[in-house]
Amino acid sequence: MLHVKNLSFSYNKTTVLKDLNFKVKRGEHLSVIGESGSGKSTLLKVLYGEYDLDSGHIFWNDTEILGPKFNLVIGYDFMKYVAQEFDLMPFITVEENIGKFLSNFYPEEKQQRTAELLEVVELSPFAKTKVKTLSGGQKQRVALARALAKQPEIILLDEPFSHIDNFKKQSLRRSVFKYLKAHHISCIVATHDKEDVLGYADRMLVLNNKRIEVNNTPEYLYNNPKTPLTASFFGEFNTINNRIFYADQLNVVDISNLKTIVKHCYFKGNYYLIEADLNGETVFFKNNTILGIDQIVYLSPTS
Ligand code: ADP
Ligand code: MG
Repeated sequence: MLHVKNLSFSYNKTTVLKDLNFKVKRGEHLSVIGESGSGKSTLLKVLYGEYDLDSGHIFWNDTEILGPKFNLVIGYDFMKYVAQEFDLMPFITVEENIGKFLSNFYPEEKQQRTAELLEVVELSPFAKTKVKTLSGGQKQRVALARALAKQPEIILLDEPFSHIDNFKKQSLRRSVFKYLKAHHISCIVATHDKEDVLGYADRMLVLNNKRIEVNNTPEYLYNNPKTPLTASFFGEFNTINNRIFYADQLNVVDISNLKTIVKHCYFKGNYYLIEADLNGETVFFKNNTILGIDQIVYLSPTS
């Protein structure tokens, strides 16, 4: 289990993380979300031991993770980290990059392991391709496979699918997160994409203003978004009488005291997102059909 106790960290004099406390169990998937600049990447680097803490402790089971002041070689066998900017060896092939840290003592096993990992990241046809000729998204997948090669107990992934196109993203996510679960590998995934979280993460930690705003299951936070920041992660939302309503929690009814005027309709595939005016404030709701501009509609929240 990873145990983070009273962790605070600053770059020079600027505090980025203040008094964080959380745990990640074996095989658990924790998503770290927050706006750009909220400290997601910093948190992963600190957990990896790349920097010295201002205060606090990080433990993986009984091993304390120490920064460079106390630990000359950064990194531990049980923990792997895939940075937002991955560094691969450009002049050797994909399979050589992945196998780089695997023992040559059992060539057959090495071959098998590499093939298995190529399948997880959906790069089997590129085994013999030199890394320098790959796209950014393909390189990101090689970096993922390389981090998994030696079967870590915990893996830290910084926006792991950010360079990968939408066609590939969905199936790759399923493949990678399934693999981690099946092998009981704990993971901490920094992301701003709800698609990386929903359906995969066991818990979701929101960083805001240097601190942990909330840490709970995605289901709980979706149903009880205490703050607009948390709600905004899940989609369009409205604050009406100090309560948060997602766009799909407001329905058009014959009459109500929420009288709105339609301003814009956005085609979203299986629904329209409607932007309307409610007493001078903008509200968003979902509707199955397109509505007329300046049409008056009444809304009612689903209870
Ligand atoms: P996120 O990953 O959530 O976008 P970061 O962890 O990259 O956020 O950055 C958090 C804050 O720390 C930002 O204000 C950023 O400018 C600052 N920061 C990041 N890296 C460094 C660094 N190496 N030196 C000084 N400040 C940094
Ligand atoms: Mg980042």
